[in-house]
Amino acid sequence: MLPVYQNDDKKSFAYVSLHKRWPVLIGQAVNDIRIETSQLPDGPKKDEAESIITQMEAVQNSVAQNLPIEPITADVYDKDEYNKFVFKPNSTETYKWSERGWLDCECLIYRKLQIVVESSKHWRGYDYFARMKNDTFVKSSSAVSTLANRYHKIYNEFKSKESEVSPEALKIVTHELLQTCLWGNATDLSLLVTVSMEELRALQVSAAAREKESVLDNDFEDVWKQLNSEKGGRVDIILDNSGFELYTDLVFTLFLLDSGLAEQVVLHPKTLPWMISDVLPTDLPTIIGMLTDPSSFPDSREDLDFIAGKLHQYLNDGQLLLRTSPFWVTSVPYWEIKPNGILGGDAIYRDLRCSKLAIFKGDLNYRKLTGDCVWPYDTPFRTAIKDLATTGIPVLALRTVKADVIVGLEPGRGEQLDKEWKENHPDDEPHAWAWGGKYAVVSFNK
Ligand SMILES: [Mg+2]
Repeated sequence: MLPVYQNDDKKSFAYVSLHKRWPVLIGQAVNDIRIETSQLPDGPKKDEAESIITQMEAVQNSVAQNLPIEPITADVYDKDEYNKFVFKPNSTETYKWSERGWLDCECLIYRKLQIVVESSKHWRGYDYFARMKNDTFVKSSSAVSTLANRYHKIYNEFKSKESEVSPEALKIVTHELLQTCLWGNATDLSLLVTVSMEELRALQVSAAAREKESVLDNDFEDVWKQLNSEKGGRVDIILDNSGFELYTDLVFTLFLLDSGLAEQVVLHPKTLPWMISDVLPTDLPTIIGMLTDPSSFPDSREDLDFIAGKLHQYLNDGQLLLRTSPFWVTSVPYWEIKPNGILGGDAIYRDLRCSKLAIFKGDLNYRKLTGDCVWPYDTPFRTAIKDLATTGIPVLALRTVKADVIVGLEPGRGEQLDKEWKENHPDDEPHAWAWGGKYAVVSFNK
């Protein structure tokens, strides 16, 4: 069994996460609850906020001081799974944060914050990251308008054709919109702790020209073959971030349904506030509502109303569905998406077996697909996703690279990137090229 990335490994982004990112992100949740509370009238909800803040700050302190991890005591479905890794073998002592794996700890932090809120009386279901998600979405308004205008044009062009649209034209647009979904993923709020607004805008700029150099494993041709293998069918998107990224996913969804490449699209959001910016079910109506609101998006009104109208139509007639599962917010690898997979992996397996293409968006989904293991760079994607590779589920990972794990590279390519990075950034770890969202993978397996 390969080791996973560890929090005490200074060569890994895990180390930066534990020491810099996690205390800050917990602070952001606390800050949001303070803002929300300041707007509340006196009463029990306001009174309860203090206890929530105290409990969240205890988690923050535990991480910042690298204390022994408090086990989960609430009676929740994934308690045993987490505590198994929190406790030292045959002991009542627990490990410190620095002594455990990155992926498990990162998931556990979000789980702990949510348990605090879920155990409350007046704050259950409250999303303490919603304010940040929505504020950031508004700031991407020029990219939002540009994409609405672009898709509206594509739609009208296809509709005005008297005969059926050629497969070549469909392929070109599929490629363009998949690129948008891919690079829209660069807007990940959990990384904004260290990224300026200007850099964010630069990341969002349509990046087709970067493809050759930046997409280190590119299976687009196979993805197209799979999508075009038959008309109709169901496409699944295991979502990552809300805001601009969700919007790009929704535009791609419209294209799949409008073109007939899919008859149904199922979106899979998270069930608890997750990695700051991840989509919750409530984000979908919020985002669509914002698109129709001229005070959020004053430009390209006709195009945005068109996009929002089409989304409403597909939601109403059941061609666009949301489906939730707590499986997506456990810390187990997606190797558990198989018959008898644990913590709901079995049900996901049975569901995704009906899919023509299951698109896994973003960095965290990729880490779970590959188990966040220290795989050699040139490991085939098929090898790294283990049992999932033989389920028959057509898997597409669409990910800008913002963590350590990466597979599917041509032999020598990863080592070359290490060498180049070290030459240009002598103070960095050689592998730091993989942390900033500059590179991406479009990895497919069936
Ligand atoms: Mg995310």
